Amino acid sequence: MRLGTLSTAAVSLAATLVALPTAASYAAPAPTERPAVLERVVIGRSVEGRSITAWHLGEPGRKKVLLIATMHGDETKPRQILGALRDGRPIRGIDLWVVPVYNPDGLAHGTRKNAHGVDLNRNFPYHWADLDGSYESGPEPVSEPETKAMVRFLRTIRPGRIISFHQPLNGVDTDTKNRSFSSKVADHLDLPRKAFTCGGVCRGTMTSWFNHRFSGAAVTVEYGARPSLHRMRSTAPHQLMQLFDAGRH
Ligand SMILES: [Zn+2]
Repeated sequence: MRLGTLSTAAVSLAATLVALPTAASYAAPAPTERPAVLERVVIGRSVEGRSITAWHLGEPGRKKVLLIATMHGDETKPRQILGALRDGRPIRGIDLWVVPVYNPDGLAHGTRKNAHGVDLNRNFPYHWADLDGSYESGPEPVSEPETKAMVRFLRTIRPGRIISFHQPLNGVDTDTKNRSFSSKVADHLDLPRKAFTCGGVCRGTMTSWFNHRFSGAAVTVEYGARPSLHRMRSTAPHQLMQLFDAGRH
């Protein structure tokens, strides 16, 4: 872990994790406008300098879960799920992190890729390959600032479970490390089970790198092209709470 390259907020996060292991001493006062939020951490910046923000919710010391959305900037709906979790009542029973907008430049420009024209989900170091076109993988593994930020963040918090939200393939990837977890996710989110094989081997994806490198399990969830706002803001957040045996105060 190279703390020297982390932002001030992330350094204080890492220091806090080491120094204050108990939930009671760790929880910071929550801002009244977002009572569920324990802390806000800028984990890095995009090519164009936009903040990549992680929000810490729930109860530290419980099972640690990370939810990520908008890795592809033109897949804009699932970030509403994470925003609803962040903006609602305090969450109990789970140590939850959410990154609603992983690719802020892509979101700003309405593009799948980052501002360098790189598909962030082909830029991770596991089975990286030099791909061009719509899966442009960058000049080398972890070439992009967004990838560097996520690699550092995952090495710092080490979640037990990750769900990476995408569109529009409408299904949960069950061709993955922890199939029982994937099946459980599909059942709870009311999505079909599918095998997203990337047409063979998945090259440089975040989930495959995490699943290879860490003991936890990451799974890809794809909603359809036009999930309803009600499903994103109400149904899915509730389903996620049930999935992880969590609830809200
Ligand atoms: Zn995607």
